Amino acid sequence: MSFTNHSPWIEQIDQTIEFPSLQSNKRSEVVVVGGGISGISTAFQILTHTELSVSLIEAKKIARWATGHNAGQVVLYFEKPFQEIVREYGLEKAIDGQKALFRGFDILQEMMEKVDILEHLEMCEGFMGVRSMHQLSLHLENKYLRDTGWAQFDALFVDQNWEYRADIPARFQDLITFVDAAYISEKLQTKEYFPVLLTSKKACTNSAFFCQKAVQYLLAEFPHRFNIYENSPVTEIRFCPDADNQVWSGSSKIDTQDVILCTNGFEHFHIVDLCNPDSRERDREFHKNVHGLVGYMAWFYADHGRPSAISYYPDPAPIDWQSEQYFYVTRRTTVVDDSKKSLVCVGGPDSLVPHDVPYDETTHDPKEAYQEIRTFLKQYRTEKIPKEFDYKWHGLMGYTHTGIRYIGQDPNTHHLWYNLGCNGVGIVWSAYGGWKIAKILSGTSFAASIFDPR
Ligand SMILES: Cc1cc2nc3c(=O)[nH]c(=O)nc-3n(C[C@H](O)[C@H](O)[C@H](O)COP(=O)(O)OP(=O)(O)OC[C@H]3O[C@@H](n4cnc5c(N)ncnc54)[C@H](O)[C@@H]3O)c2cc1C
Repeated sequence: MSFTNHSPWIEQIDQTIEFPSLQSNKRSEVVVVGGGISGISTAFQILTHTELSVSLIEAKKIARWATGHNAGQVVLYFEKPFQEIVREYGLEKAIDGQKALFRGFDILQEMMEKVDILEHLEMCEGFMGVRSMHQLSLHLENKYLRDTGWAQFDALFVDQNWEYRADIPARFQDLITFVDAAYISEKLQTKEYFPVLLTSKKACTNSAFFCQKAVQYLLAEFPHRFNIYENSPVTEIRFCPDADNQVWSGSSKIDTQDVILCTNGFEHFHIVDLCNPDSRERDREFHKNVHGLVGYMAWFYADHGRPSAISYYPDPAPIDWQSEQYFYVTRRTTVVDDSKKSLVCVGGPDSLVPHDVPYDETTHDPKEAYQEIRTFLKQYRTEKIPKEFDYKWHGLMGYTHTGIRYIGQDPNTHHLWYNLGCNGVGIVWSAYGGWKIAKILSGTSFAASIFDPR
């Protein structure tokens, strides 16, 4: 049987809602390219914080790419270890980046409140289990730097009888609470032994549902300043001296001042900067800036249990953070036939997609990935695992060179902006990126940051 990419997030949105394609030439002060959570948050924030007109242009239908194929965890961390960010950018900038993520969470909540779907942001307990001294040292160092530079926002627990307890450096002792092993396995809802537990604030949501509702809100709230086009792949963006810039889709164009790429890095168009002699070369290089990982997800119904968002790092000796294998499980409450159930969403395996190889979400058939998920569930989780998952899906994540989302202006082409590159987690970042760009467009200046495009 061939694989069907069947995402529950997309199934939950209204399939009948459609927007027109770009059929004739238009004008708009800002064009946002890409109709995922990044593009829609960016349009939302610009319309809210400025008087500018905004057109959003989407290649297919909104919220059907990464935004409709993720795990739905609303998390406030970088996938790249915090200590690496500190090493590259310094503690102050790294802490500012962490604060930005917290601001992003508030921005997402504010948008959901305006759209009147705040009840769809489900707060839950967030846990992470790690196994080795190597991983514990990494997390202690991260926590030490974050706590020193700013404030405590996560807690770290270690099994009081762990055989390596005496090896924990003295300077970290105050960061740890020692507990029974049973406390850790209960929180991680696992049969396996994990000596270390981290806890933090998390939530979950359907980012595709947010996008669809947000667009309806924007169309009603800003009817004269907001337009949206679906099924309109952008084929070329042209930056022109002393004239409007142009965003082309086939034979139609939108004349504009600023163009904001919210494409997650896989856009398949050309960028021509007529002011810049090496534009052709930079266009070629630009498309190598982001590489792709396909992430695989499954979901099934289980007996009701506590809502939670948990990550497991089973491998005791990772090579580096980018190749470190982990599994993540979200358990949410739902009602099936009048009785409460848990909805369990699990992901972990991924595979690399080189930039010149097209990823086809309909033909990609990842049998091994689902076998891996099943093996993980059987070994680690306490729920009864069904023979068939209720949903199986996969989606493309864009990783930038820096391992951090690009938010802001292109260093050479100033009317070109980015809010892209999810780097594994991107829901909150998308909201923050949209807000920051809107604020810059409305005249606020920001100090140099870890998000600045290179
Ligand atoms: C399996 C998986 C699990 C994930 N889990 C989480 C999680 O738990 N928490 C979290 O925070 N993040 C998670 N993410 C990441 C998160 O989904 C993304 O960060 C987020 O959805 C990115 O949104 P986006 O708008 O930037 O990109 P997308 O949703 O990919 O949207 C980009 C849009 O740009 C459009 N586009 C591209 N090229 C063109 C063009 N030429 N013309 C017009 N439009 C174009 C595409 O059609 C697409 O609709 C996960 C991702 C995956 C794949």
